[in-house]
Amino acid sequence: MPPSHHKVLVAGSGPAGLTAALYTARAQLGPLVVEGEPSSTSDQPGGQLMLTTEVENFPGFVEGVMGPELMASFRAQAARFGAELVTAKATRIEVDRDPVEIWVGDPDAPEPTYRANALIVATGARALMLGVPGEDRLLGHGVSTCATCDGFFFRDQPIAVVGGGDSALEEAIFLSKFASSVLVIHRRKELRASKIMQDRALSNPKISFLWDSVVEEVLGEEKVRGLRVRDVLTNATSEIALDGCFVAIGHVPNTSLFAGKLDLDDAGYIRTHDGTHTSAPAVFACGDVQDHEYRQAITAAGSGCMAAIDVERHLEALRDRRTAHA
Ligand code: NAP
Repeated sequence: MPPSHHKVLVAGSGPAGLTAALYTARAQLGPLVVEGEPSSTSDQPGGQLMLTTEVENFPGFVEGVMGPELMASFRAQAARFGAELVTAKATRIEVDRDPVEIWVGDPDAPEPTYRANALIVATGARALMLGVPGEDRLLGHGVSTCATCDGFFFRDQPIAVVGGGDSALEEAIFLSKFASSVLVIHRRKELRASKIMQDRALSNPKISFLWDSVVEEVLGEEKVRGLRVRDVLTNATSEIALDGCFVAIGHVPNTSLFAGKLDLDDAGYIRTHDGTHTSAPAVFACGDVQDHEYRQAITAAGSGCMAAIDVERHLEALRDRRTAHA
């Protein structure tokens, strides 16, 4: 099949991608959303909100909303204005061609699947997970990767945070406002976090530390009831009764397709400038793929809107230049 041509292609279907799709659809740009594929942790694409249960901090939902339900509304709203969604994963993207070329399926196929005058990259990031039994099953049921999102649900309950970096301590400090106690479980005796975060966490009366220890299993059937941990020095294992476990061992942006093609920072996030512009003129990035600071659904959605407006202006400028040359 010859490649199909689109004015705008959006890669990714989290809050950033679908907001970009909604805005470009309403601007009559007929976006195609290559929305990704089901993953090991979710049977539908839609980004990290597909892995959460209740979302209470997305403005406009007084009583809160379930993550997957919120994403279904994002999708339906974008589709209502004419965004076309395909359940597929981009496997190769050539950003320095005009139009940009996108492959799904065989990346070595001679022809791309799609060509687009502008590409919005909203492929997101994923939290690194421990990969231990019980973790996947109880994600959203006591296992979380986002204290800002889920901390409130653990009011007066004992919880743990796994990790020893700035994220882990930031989460522990934030969670100490809600939880009855916060146990930071770290695999070494030295924290990786900055000195100021260490001082804050170490002096917080609600936070205690379990050093030289790794989580071997998240315990519980319907919801978390504890962790089985192993002391890496003695190999002794023990069970700790807890109501929640926050995994804070880092995030990785989904940018493997762009290595060597777009300007990425040291941690692999896409560098943006002047709004959502990237190092390639027809490529724009929004959401967690370019943000390791805020990582919220609402900030991702906001940057998706910015990307759509930047694309609209880019396409207008392109049209003006072509008319002037004609
Ligand atoms: P990070 O600095 O890479 O720290 C990850 C932590 O998780 C490390 O302590 C690491 O242990 C541990 N870890 C990694 N894999 C593990 C595993 N499989 N099992 C158990 N523990 C594991 O990641 P981050 O804390 O998300 O921070 C990322 C970047 O954002 C950093 O540059 C950080 O400074 C920055 N950040 C800044 C702030 C702030 O300034 N407020 C807040 C958040 C993040 P080891 O130490 O043994 O490697």
